[in-house]
Order: sequence, then structure tokens, then C-alpha cells
Amino acid sequence: MSIPHFDAVVVGAGLAGLAAASALSGAGGKVLVLERKPFVGGRAYSYEHPSLHEEIDCQHVLLGCCTNLVHLCEQAGVADRVRWYDELTFLEPGHDGKAVRRTTLKPGGMPAPLHTSFDFLRAPMLELTDKIAIARGLMDFMRGYPADDTESFATWLKRTKQTPRAIKHLWEPVIVGALNDGFENCSTKYAGQVFHESFLKSAQGGRLGIPALPLSQFYGHVAEHAVRQGAELRLSQSVTGLSRAREVWTIATSEGGFTADNVVLAVPFQQAASLLPTDASGDALRTQMAQLQNAPITTVHLWFEREITELDHAALLDTGIQWIFQKSRIRRTAGQGSYCELTISASFAELHQTREEILANALRELAMFFPKVREVKLVKSGILKEARATFSVTPGSDALRPAQRTVWPGLFLAGDWTTTGWPSTMEGAVRSGYLAAGTVAGTNFLKPDLPAEGLMRMIAP
Ligand SMILES: Cc1cc2nc3c(=O)[nH]c(=O)nc-3n(C[C@H](O)[C@H](O)[C@H](O)COP(=O)(O)OP(=O)(O)OC[C@H]3O[C@@H](n4cnc5c(N)ncnc54)[C@H](O)[C@@H]3O)c2cc1C
Repeated sequence: MSIPHFDAVVVGAGLAGLAAASALSGAGGKVLVLERKPFVGGRAYSYEHPSLHEEIDCQHVLLGCCTNLVHLCEQAGVADRVRWYDELTFLEPGHDGKAVRRTTLKPGGMPAPLHTSFDFLRAPMLELTDKIAIARGLMDFMRGYPADDTESFATWLKRTKQTPRAIKHLWEPVIVGALNDGFENCSTKYAGQVFHESFLKSAQGGRLGIPALPLSQFYGHVAEHAVRQGAELRLSQSVTGLSRAREVWTIATSEGGFTADNVVLAVPFQQAASLLPTDASGDALRTQMAQLQNAPITTVHLWFEREITELDHAALLDTGIQWIFQKSRIRRTAGQGSYCELTISASFAELHQTREEILANALRELAMFFPKVREVKLVKSGILKEARATFSVTPGSDALRPAQRTVWPGLFLAGDWTTTGWPSTMEGAVRSGYLAAGTVAGTNFLKPDLPAEGLMRMIAP
């Protein structure tokens, strides 16, 4: 029996692989996607938890400035399952007789970059000195952000004399939430990008989007779209080796083998390193990739008998929990109790804690924001620790991120960790997939960034 041959084999059905497969099959290519897990979505996955009897996922959010991710979802007809929010809520805990204090930031009538200035100036979570420091800091990112990524955000915070409260109540929840590591391990370049693209450039860029379906169902629509375009998808099939002879790649898998003119390796950097050809021409690439670092995210999943808050989501200040997402409200399944997820970014400490410790801390802290936690019955709970949730945009890491084209003809890399100009995000992954597909097909699949609005058209055209 002859081995099935494809124009391109995409290894990995995370967002990078799905984006590459969608672009290549849309351009008429004969494409095969191989995924080792029984579901698509990669790190943006959901699965049926065997003892909780719930389909659970770690909440993933996107922003209005994620133009390539939004495009992929639109193509697949699933963009209307993203719930968009203009308003961000920050809560300070209530304790020792002090009530919980709420700050909301949302665009008002002013043109960008002043669109949230009305709420910012009134924000109770910040004193005047904090606001002055933040405004001075934001001026640095008004025209853009540094092209060089060697300065750490910790150095920038010191250099621009940010106050402790400005750090704890704004820079930390936003940057640790978005870049998922401590300030020493985040470059000013990517922190600046977050603020430029989502806080300053336009109101649309800062809108918060939350998929309202469990993630593998949500991204299952993207996979189905690629299949409708002619791509073939094989799940539960792990690629075990790649080799090339007479300009054709052979892809060995747990179930057999395939051949292809092109291979897009859309897997995390550790797996990519183990699948690359071992000849000396790849030595430099392997050395680069070995220096990339991961950071963990821990999520706490709580099912309450009734709602403990009327909020869909909020940043929880002055505690170890960064965000709460009330998923039953976001998914509009309210009425069946309340499903809340707490997100702990850069959760290095929690990796070493027991599930009981994490749960006890989380419930204690949660009650400081929502006293009903003490009254409402907790029906069940679960903890997910993702040790390799993201790669860190440490200062200087741009030099370690490879381009999508490799030294081997017909072998391309994709994945949030490749050169995309974005941190470790779904948008970064989709960009990498479009870039890899564009390199294969000799065309451009990348979508333009959102345009600047208001005064930003003159400041950062
Ligand atoms: C808990 C958590 C929360 C996050 N929150 C956010 C968020 O709010 N917003 C955001 O934008 N991003 C978030 N991220 C990051 C985001 O999930 C990733 O940046 C993105 O999904 C990476 O996509 P990828 O395709 O590059 O890689 P992956 O998603 O890792 O996909 C790689 C795929 O390759 C498969 N694979 C690996 N080896 C093989 C092999 N040998 N053969 C076949 N298949 C293989 C894997 O199974 C996987 O499906 C979060 C991540 C985690 C874990």
C-alpha cells in the first residue's frame, strides 16, 4: 500500500497548527494535521474531567487588538461565540471592617488615548501620586514600544519611579496577567506593547473577549472549518520522527507514516527540539531553543450552589489570585448554580503546594471580596496546574525565538514561541501559523493591526 502524500503536514492542532492548516487548505493545499491528543486546541483546551463530570478549561481571554485570532474565528464562523466586554473591574479586598472597594475602567466619550481617562482619574484604587506616576509611565508607550527587548520591566518601573500602589493596583494585575511572569522576567518591550495596543491606541483594542464555549468545542469549530476546506485531521496520532530524502519528508507517527513536500512543526519548543533533524546545521537553533523558559498558571475551579457575585469577571487586588471569571454567567448557564474560575498567573509557588492548600488559600482570599463565599455551599472543586502554560518574554529572549523558515528546505516552525512580535498568547500562536503558512505558500496570510483612533492617529500613525 502506498504511503499517503500531502502538500503539507502540520504537526500539532493547537492554535498555531490550526491557523496554518486553515490558511494552507484555504489556499487549495492538500493538508494533513496530526495531533497527539484526542482533542484540538493545544494549551487552549477543554476536557471532560473524570471525577468532576464537567468539561473544564483554563479561562483564556483575548483582546480587541488580537486581529489574527479574531480573523481565524470569523473564518470558522465562531466569532459570535466570543463575549466582549468594554469594562474592566478591579476589586480591593474588604477586611478589618473595611468594605470591598470597586474600580471600573471603561471607555468614555474622549478620543484615544484619553478614552478611559475619566474613569482613571476617578479610580478609587489609586491615589493622586499613583495616577501621576502612571500617566508619566504611559507617556513612554504613547508612540509605540521599544524595538529592543533587553530591558526588564522591573528596571522600567524603577526608572520611571512608579509608586508601590501603582505597581500593585495597575502594572502588576495587567502585566503579570498578560505576560505570566515576574517583572524581572518580562521585557519592557512586551509590557509596553500590552499598554500601547490595548490601553492607548484605540478603545476597540482594549476590549476583553472571552470564548463562551469550552475551549476544545470553541476551537473544534476552527478545525471543522479547515476540514470543510479539504484538510484532513487525525487526532490521537503522535509524530515520532521526521526525515527527508529526495526532496520529500517522511513523517513517522504512532499509527504509521505519511510523506509531504512541506512540514509545519506547530508544537511547543521542547517537542520541536526533539523532532528536528539532528544534523549539525541545526546546532545553533537547538542551542537557542534550549534557553527559552516556561512559566506556570494555576486555576481553581469552584462550583457553588448559588451565585456569590453579580460580576462576570474581575481583577482581585492585593491577593495571590489575579482574576475571577464567573463562567456560568459568561456562558449564560446561570440558574444551574455558579461555576467560578480563579486564575493564579506565574504560579511558581503553587506548583509546590498541595491541592488542599491551594483551595484553602483561594477560598479564604475569595471571601475577602465576596462574603457570600462563607454562606453558599461549595458543591465541588478542582485545581489545574499547568507547569508549561506559557513561555516567558524574558529580557533578550527575542534573540532566542526562531523564524518560521528553518535551515532545512520544506521544514517550517510555528508556535507562540517562534518570532511573531507577540508574547505567549493565542494571538501570537495564530500569527505564527499564518506566518509559517505564508512562508510555505509564498504569500501573506497575516492580518493588519487595528488602526490608531482619535488623537493617536497623529501620535502613533
Ligand atoms: C492555563 C493557561 C492559560 C492561558 N491563558 C491565556 C489567555 O488568557 N490568553 C492567551 O492569549 N493565551 C493564554 N494562554 C497561552 C495560550 O494557550 C498559548 O499561547 C497558545 O495556545 C499556544 O498555542 P500553540 O499552537 O503555539 O501551542 P500549543 O497550544 O501547545 O499546541 C501544540 C500542539 O501540538 C501537539 N503536539 C505536541 N507534540 C506533538 C507530536 N509529537 N505529535 C503530534 N502533536 C503534538 C500538542 O498536543 C498541542 O496540541 C494560556 C495558557 C495556559 C496553559
